[in-house]
Amino acid sequence: MPRVLCAGHVNWDVTLRVDRLPTPDGESAVRATRQGGGGSAGNVAVGLVGLNCKAALLGSVGDDEHGQFARRDLDRSGVDLSGVVTTEGVTTTKYLLVDDEGRVAVLGAPGVNEALGPDDIDPDVVDGADHVHLTSQRPDTAARIAEVASDAGIPVSADPGRRLTDRDFGPVIEHADLLLLNRVEAEALGDLPDDREVVTKLGASGSRLRTPEATYSHPGFDLPAVDTTGAGDAFAAGFIAARLQGADPERMLAVANACGALGAATEGPKTDLSWERVEAVLAGERPGF
Ligand code: ADP
Repeated sequence: MPRVLCAGHVNWDVTLRVDRLPTPDGESAVRATRQGGGGSAGNVAVGLVGLNCKAALLGSVGDDEHGQFARRDLDRSGVDLSGVVTTEGVTTTKYLLVDDEGRVAVLGAPGVNEALGPDDIDPDVVDGADHVHLTSQRPDTAARIAEVASDAGIPVSADPGRRLTDRDFGPVIEHADLLLLNRVEAEALGDLPDDREVVTKLGASGSRLRTPEATYSHPGFDLPAVDTTGAGDAFAAGFIAARLQGADPERMLAVANACGALGAATEGPKTDLSWERVEAVLAGERPGF
């Protein structure tokens, strides 16, 4: 089984289902509330376990109840948590507002999800991996992990996330073999590097993959979207798992889109992925939820 190291945020997610996303001077009604472990790195790790990979996590939670619960959720999903540090402080909480069409707006409360610094990275932990996936986190920590992985010849993917333009991810992008961006992030970045794999995720319209040789597109899968939180993380898990199997670009993109569609059709940030469900979506079926 291939081993993937996922590094980045582990959070506590509070999802508020609202009738509409709030606007200035407007008011929205909360219809339902749910909470659970989240954060991109954790979500991708859970997805990878479902797709028959070993997934280890590098990140940090607080020494509070939410930190314990988030660890327990991930542990139950089969993620290796030996690289997750429990540190003094509050686990980062994200408030996710989700409307009837599954669109999401996020409020982030401060917490300790970036307690790992570049000096905390043990090269031996990175060295045993077949692939390293970097999600939103401190750019200096991500750059250090990417550098260690690159030096060891381990493929690196990076999905810097919503705050891409607020922080300097240049050194991370430099080391990444595969870059995953959504439409807004791709537009914000402007000139995309043309010497590596770059995926642009296009929501319900699927995604595009540009390699140094060619460009591929996939229109996505028409599953009912209920909550797009975690769709990009499920997409990343699918793309990486297919890549580790040596799949060709068309297959990587198709598998990733199937996983993204399953993510959008699932309540909450984590998606219950399996090859059986992925193959069903690829065959045009709608697996049960
Ligand atoms: P992110 O979640 O990272 O912002 P996207 O919103 O583009 O990125 O979603 C990632 C992927 O999930 C898309 O490329 C697509 O494959 C799938 N996806 C997202 N929203 C939907 C939807 N409404 N219906 C079907 N698939 C979707």
